Amino acid sequence: MNDALMKQMKERIEALKKLPGVGSKSIKDVLEENGFTRRDFLKWSAAMAAMLGLPASFAPVVAEAAEVSDRLPVVWLHLAECTGCSESLLRTDAPTIDDLIFNYINLQYHDTIMAAAGWQAEENYEEALEKFAGRFILCVEGGVPTKDGGEYLTIGPEAETGLAKLKRTASKAAAIIAVGTCSSFGGIQAAYPNPTGTVGINKVLNKPVINVPGCPPSAKNIVGTIVYVILYGQLPAVDNFNRPKWAYGLRIHDLCERRGHFDAGEFVEQFGDAGAENGFCLYKVGCKGPYTFNNCSRERFNQHTSWPVQAGHGCIGCSEPDFWDSMAPYEEPLANKKFMSVDADATADKVGITILTVAGVAIAAHAALSAIKNPKE
Ligand code: SF4
Ligand code: SF4
Repeated sequence: MNDALMKQMKERIEALKKLPGVGSKSIKDVLEENGFTRRDFLKWSAAMAAMLGLPASFAPVVAEAAEVSDRLPVVWLHLAECTGCSESLLRTDAPTIDDLIFNYINLQYHDTIMAAAGWQAEENYEEALEKFAGRFILCVEGGVPTKDGGEYLTIGPEAETGLAKLKRTASKAAAIIAVGTCSSFGGIQAAYPNPTGTVGINKVLNKPVINVPGCPPSAKNIVGTIVYVILYGQLPAVDNFNRPKWAYGLRIHDLCERRGHFDAGEFVEQFGDAGAENGFCLYKVGCKGPYTFNNCSRERFNQHTSWPVQAGHGCIGCSEPDFWDSMAPYEEPLANKKFMSVDADATADKVGITILTVAGVAIAAHAALSAIKNPKE
């Protein structure tokens, strides 16, 4: 099984190697210029292989996939959003290997980082669509306004609606990745009362969309999804919200460094108290980690240095659909409030809305009970 998969991946990489790359530098040069050694790169490949659920013996193949990532044309479309997803990847003074690979991929079009503007940008866009029709990856950042024909978002000198541009571009894409919660589920634009009728892009497309939600998602999850497409030539296994299972298969709560405190009934009661100083669990000050499927607690952000819970604020559930409405207020526990999420992972694959709602109540009850039992309080 592994041999057959390895053979299939190697054949795909060989085929990609025959295609022209962008620029004159190899990923090896780019990494060296930024102070990374071959050993660092192989460590990264081993970690990426593990993240994608591959055995350690696949690390060299993952390294090769990253090396040919400049052969894969990517068109990056911005719709209704804040550009925070791109910012999280690009605005870093000490880039990680993930950031560098993102910079290295064959980005044929990206509003935020390209030099062209106006008519020239439009020309570049049309050229990329024509030249790479049927074989580019479309990454979309932002939800799509649909009300009144989508006229609340127009793009470019001809004021084409985002809705029309998305449909036109998607019809020529080989694979579509929704980057961030806005494009996956509508995001903040879709929060009540959603005056522009914004939705996640899969609601208006008739092709499969792989959702990589998060506000913003980590570089690891974005680059990992692209590496997956390079390796397999197809989209990964997903949960009921079209999120890759290898990244969104577990709850934040399952791998949280404060989990021991939750189980021991040691909670922060209010920000700044002794519990906060001691790194206790943030459930009672609103952490939504028990209801949120993502790998932040394992992969973290900002060069893997930290993540919200480590920094002292609870998870706000940003990779869940409608989290702006369903997870609020962010600094209070969900407690008995009805939880909207359904079937999200290996656990939640088997858990429906009712059980998850009951789970929410059970978690609240456990938190209350643990607190009573805690002799330190
Ligand atoms: S998902 Fe969040 S960070 Fe990304 S564009 Fe939307 S609002 Fe900004
Ligand atoms: S409730 Fe939040 S802070 Fe507490 S263990 Fe779970 S994820 Fe971590």
